[in-house]
Amino acid sequence: MTDLPAAGDRHFLPPYLLERIASAGSSRLSECARHTLLADGRFRARAGAVALPSGSARRGEPARYVYSAEQQQVLPGRLVRREGQVDSGDPAVDEAYQGLGATYRLFWEAFERHSIDGDGMALLATVHYGQDYENAFWDGRQMVFGDGDGELFNRFTVALDIIAHELSHGVIQHEAALAYVGQSGALNESLCDVFGSLAKQLELGQRVDEADWLIGEGLFTEQIDGRALRSMAKPGSAYDDPLLGRDPQPGHMEAFVVTEADNGGVHINSGIPNRAFHLVAMALGGHAWERAGRIWYDTLVDPRLLQDSDFVAFAGLTLANAEWRFGAASVEVEAVRQGWQGVGVLS
Ligand SMILES: [Zn+2]
Repeated sequence: MTDLPAAGDRHFLPPYLLERIASAGSSRLSECARHTLLADGRFRARAGAVALPSGSARRGEPARYVYSAEQQQVLPGRLVRREGQVDSGDPAVDEAYQGLGATYRLFWEAFERHSIDGDGMALLATVHYGQDYENAFWDGRQMVFGDGDGELFNRFTVALDIIAHELSHGVIQHEAALAYVGQSGALNESLCDVFGSLAKQLELGQRVDEADWLIGEGLFTEQIDGRALRSMAKPGSAYDDPLLGRDPQPGHMEAFVVTEADNGGVHINSGIPNRAFHLVAMALGGHAWERAGRIWYDTLVDPRLLQDSDFVAFAGLTLANAEWRFGAASVEVEAVRQGWQGVGVLS
């Protein structure tokens, strides 16, 4: 039985990165990257009933289900840990469980949102997907994590912000449903990085100046010359490696990348709104989820945000929401304006 959701899969690693490894890596790494790309381009096999398991009727409490694909590529796999059960002893299973919990906590504690759909939807994650599978993705109803290849990539549950990033694709699907192409796609990606980083910051109790603002820290093994996959503070600086090349993200409209690849650069130009968020958060100080994050969340659930909204439209709505929540003459509105001016989206 196959089931491809209309929303389409949202992969964590962009195809251009895997394509580089496929063409320039050792024969084993090239093979791993090639079969990951193949798996990412295919219909996904799904076993059993299509209905989701029951969600959480209690606001403030998640309903988590973690499955193991046991190195197969059939979803969801065997249920190995559900809500309230103790550690399994399998790091991938337990990291997924903790990561789902931390992401739920961000949306609940910071934004009073009860799970992905706002109505207690069950949180599903499958780990140990495929063999040497080098990616993680949201398939429209659940998260899926590969174990990596052990040479370049660790298991994909290793970074909380990756888990929160993938789950945020689910939240966006239930709200603005930003089209996954061009600027709206880059906004979709950027929002997932924003909430991914905020979930990690909340979990660690970090203030804006204590956070690393990295996405995917810990994913690369020491064989890769890089700290993470993306940097929100300094897009373009996350990695610079002989095999992977250089982090291609711009941090300003002057360097906006026009490309057909990667759905029109959704994982590339997301650096611009990422940096705008970082500028706003740094200007406001304190905990980023309290003010900058609140404004971004208010914008995500604003009905005026359309599927094809571009950077300028999104920026305008963050200003409108900052005014609505904090007042027209507030420091928040000024910080938001300067953040977007800082990346050349507003003049
Ligand atoms: Zn994504």
